[in-house]
Amino acid sequence: MTEILRVEHLKKSYDGFLAVNGVSFSVQQGELKALIGPNGAGKSTCFNMLMGQLKPTEGEVFLDGENVTGKRPRDIWRRGVGRTFQITGTYQSMTVIENVQMALMSHNHRLFSVWPRAWKLYREEAFEFLETVSMADQADRPCSILAYGDLKRLELAIALCHRPRLLLMDEPTAGMAPSARIELMQLTADIVRDQGVSVLFTEHDMDVVFAHAHHIMVLNRGELIADGDAEAVRNNPQVQEVYLGGGTLFKEAADA
Ligand code: ADP
Ligand code: MG
Repeated sequence: MTEILRVEHLKKSYDGFLAVNGVSFSVQQGELKALIGPNGAGKSTCFNMLMGQLKPTEGEVFLDGENVTGKRPRDIWRRGVGRTFQITGTYQSMTVIENVQMALMSHNHRLFSVWPRAWKLYREEAFEFLETVSMADQADRPCSILAYGDLKRLELAIALCHRPRLLLMDEPTAGMAPSARIELMQLTADIVRDQGVSVLFTEHDMDVVFAHAHHIMVLNRGELIADGDAEAVRNNPQVQEVYLGGGTLFKEAADA
């Protein structure tokens, strides 16, 4: 197995409050890994440090063995770390395929493509990306009229245009209906399997997490209390304590 990401003793302090407190873990190539935990556990803070938006107070982040701690988001992105961006503003008025074509042009450094042929050039390739997320049949619809779940799938296709080796998804299914959540995660799992990319994601719906993640990490008050497969995490006494009351984590186990 090839290790893509390694995080060592990561800490983030806000005026003395440790939002992330000594977190260490790694992500392997082709791994779909979940980071779960209650609200305020420090998940987004972790993600923002991995993406370069926040500088860690302490600790280190390695990509392919290279220390990238404190590097800017652009430098991290150039090293093959992708994330999904929300389609907003003028992009909403463009069609589905135009958005993908734009992403492909940007990936190939053709940002100023008023050149009509450039658009044609990327149309075929854009179709392939749309097929990956089962959106080819909606290619010529404006984004503004897409269903929310379809928009999310398009955002995933756009992220893939940059050929990330590691995709970071902080609550990718927020605001989606349960069935659409499961669909998006199934799609993500298929992409991980077919393309060998690695994905680190956060998610509130435990059914989605336990159905799809290869490994699950649990963060509580800034500290990792578990890191393992579904079985190990489910049986971890500390995890059970944290989720006691919420109960959703053990719905499946209780039904069995
Ligand atoms: P999660 O994503 O797991 O819900 P966050 O990483 O967003 O958690 O937040 C972790 C903790 O850090 C929370 O207690 C939150 O209030 C605090 N926090 C996050 N961002 C800031 C900030 N910019 N300044 C001060 N405290 C913050
Ligand atoms: Mg968050």
